[in-house]
Amino acid sequence: MGPQLKPAAERFAGYRQALASKVMAAGVKHHKTLDAIATVPRHAFMDAGLHGQAYEDSALPIGHQQTISKPSVVARMIELLHKPKHKLGKVLEIGTGCGYQAAVLSLLAEEVYSIERIRPLHDMARSKLRPFRINNLRLIYGDGILGLPQAAPFDGIILAAAGLGIPDALLDQLAIGGRLVAPVVRNEKEQQLLLIERMSSLRYQRTALDEVFFVPLQSGVV
Ligand code: SAH
Repeated sequence: MGPQLKPAAERFAGYRQALASKVMAAGVKHHKTLDAIATVPRHAFMDAGLHGQAYEDSALPIGHQQTISKPSVVARMIELLHKPKHKLGKVLEIGTGCGYQAAVLSLLAEEVYSIERIRPLHDMARSKLRPFRINNLRLIYGDGILGLPQAAPFDGIILAAAGLGIPDALLDQLAIGGRLVAPVVRNEKEQQLLLIERMSSLRYQRTALDEVFFVPLQSGVV
């Protein structure tokens, strides 16, 4: 945990608590995830002009045609990443965006790696996260479709952007017993959340869950 995260977040405590209540009302039950939502100051990851909406349960623009994800969906995905009664070990996030979900994950996992393919967003996340001095989070500029072989295997992999399927490299880099949570495109209008658990080196168990809406997973860096 970033030792500075709690004290830095003392202001707006009521708003953060209210957001955690909205996330709980949306169906998230995992207490530690709800506590993390109640701890991270979401407005700090957004433009000043949007601070008034930061504690609503909605996705909002962060520039470069990308969004900060909807808090209840962030929390739902992080809840799914947890195996019952297990703490999260090493986690990979694809799609840092502004860095909000990475900050939430840093409170729950031992180590977090987060990849972003748009340079200005990677730089923005770095500067927005700096004041929190989170020491278990690494930001990487690159194409998340390739994963991060040098840090694999991961106990958890979470995608913040929707592709047509799950990239093979990410399935390979999942630890046995690890979980991957990702939105996947079903057709022009629909995306679905998938939970994939690696049962053995060759066997993956796949569960299709909620309907969701995410920005597209794109290849290459810009
Ligand atoms: N995690 C963010 C959500 C950001 S939106 C949050 O906390 O709210 C999803 C992000 O995924 C965008 O910034 C987009 O640029 C990024 N993205 C899309 N395809 C990617 C890829 N192949 N590798 C890394 N990042 C990618």
